[in-house]
Amino acid sequence: MKIVLATSNPNKVREINEMVQGTGIEFILPPEGFDPVEDGETFEDNSLIKARAAWEISHTWTLADDSGLCIDALDGAPGIYSARYAETPQKRIDRVLEEMSGIKNRTAHFECCMTLINPAGGVEKVVQGVCEGSIALKQSGIHGFGYDPIFLLKDSDKTMAELEDDEKNKISHRSKALAGILKYLSTAAKQSI
Ligand code: IMP
Repeated sequence: MKIVLATSNPNKVREINEMVQGTGIEFILPPEGFDPVEDGETFEDNSLIKARAAWEISHTWTLADDSGLCIDALDGAPGIYSARYAETPQKRIDRVLEEMSGIKNRTAHFECCMTLINPAGGVEKVVQGVCEGSIALKQSGIHGFGYDPIFLLKDSDKTMAELEDDEKNKISHRSKALAGILKYLSTAAKQSI
């Protein structure tokens, strides 16, 4: 089964295909012209906007994800603005560390919402994945991307960036959401939906 992944980033497609190896599912890039305006107010809104944009130009199964870092003491920021919180990944980390300076409650979570659209254009399934942790006092680790170097995993002294890719893939918000989608698809396949 081929599913269009609502992204223009071939690396995302490669990564997700590694995660679904052996399931009979293959993710592919959308046809040319995928350029959604992500102006929703929640991760769910934005994943739906992306999934619909990919469906409009492919009319087949499409999956979209939207994710970000939510910090309790910052009222959920950067949240849906995670990718745009400052100009570069390092500046985004610096901004968070600055805003969190002197704050005791450092709990945070990564969140991912995935939306699956069927070939008729209907929303087939929406799944959330969450990974709990807190904001470190300083960055450490070289793996992963984005806010990984300042995200301390719950009940651990490691940041997300200190995990190898395969370890991160077992616990991340994205892999949890994807597991929900795969579970849904395998149940649906058994019932030949
Ligand atoms: P996207 O929805 O996958 O494009 O992610 C939006 C933004 O959230 C990214 O640009 C990162 O800043 C942040 N983010 C999402 N997932 C992760 C993660 O697994 N690690 C670190 N940062 C993440």
